[in-house]
Amino acid sequence: MSERTRIRRLPEKAASTRADLEAVLDAARVAHVAFVHDGSPVNIPTACARDQDRLLLHGSSGSRMMRELAAGVPVCVTVTLLDGMVLARSAFESSMHYRSAMVFGTATPVAAEEKVAALRAMSEAWLPGRWATLRPPTSRELAATLVLAVPLTEWSVKVSDGPPEDPAEDLDAPVWAGVLPVLTRYGEPVPAPDLRGGPPFPAEAATWSIG
Ligand SMILES: Cc1cc2nc3c(=O)[nH]c(=O)nc-3n(C[C@H](O)[C@H](O)[C@H](O)COP(=O)(O)OP(=O)(O)OC[C@H]3O[C@@H](n4cnc5c(N)ncnc54)[C@H](O)[C@@H]3O)c2cc1C
Repeated sequence: MSERTRIRRLPEKAASTRADLEAVLDAARVAHVAFVHDGSPVNIPTACARDQDRLLLHGSSGSRMMRELAAGVPVCVTVTLLDGMVLARSAFESSMHYRSAMVFGTATPVAAEEKVAALRAMSEAWLPGRWATLRPPTSRELAATLVLAVPLTEWSVKVSDGPPEDPAEDLDAPVWAGVLPVLTRYGEPVPAPDLRGGPPFPAEAATWSIG
């Protein structure tokens, strides 16, 4: 924990173990990447995947975000998982269940000779087993792709759960109170309209999870 990652607002929601961080990052597929560009803050949603002690991001080598990060601008990467709507007896006490993580630092470009392994790690984090069924990336595709690693050294995790916390004077209000869970899950697969040869939906998908 550093001074900037110490949770001051509702510190009882802080989660502090490495396992807490990894659980949030591994459940997420999307991060918001915040940095200052030309004096203005920007916050860009992008795909993310944890690979051991680093968070990987990938993108076009022409992307403003990727080029800025590769140049070493300070970055704050945030991951958010929405778990529920908390319906309290007042608007003031109503809130949300969530798990969120913030990682501060600078990103480092993954070296050319490690790029395929890093891309494979991202694919395996999202869709285990899929990479081995795909053709290898071409040198042109690799040249067009930057992979960045943000070290998991300075971070915070906040988890909001539990029932509504209405004050005693609101408990007799004639309004339902409780939690409406939000579920993140995959739906029915939709085959590509140009799917040829009738390959089956991958069996390894049985192990795929999200959220
Ligand atoms: C889905 C969702 C809905 C939310 N709705 C609201 C809302 O409506 N209003 C509101 O005020 N807040 C809301 N929050 C909480 C919000 O993210 C902040 O935690 C809160 O606003 C306090 O911000 P702060 O800068 O004052 O916190 P501080 O405690 O001063 O922040 C200090 C440090 O704590 C860490 N930190 C702060 N917040 C988080 C976080 N969420 N996750 C991980 N690390 C964190 C960071 O490292 C930060 O630098 C919501 C969060 C989520 C995920």
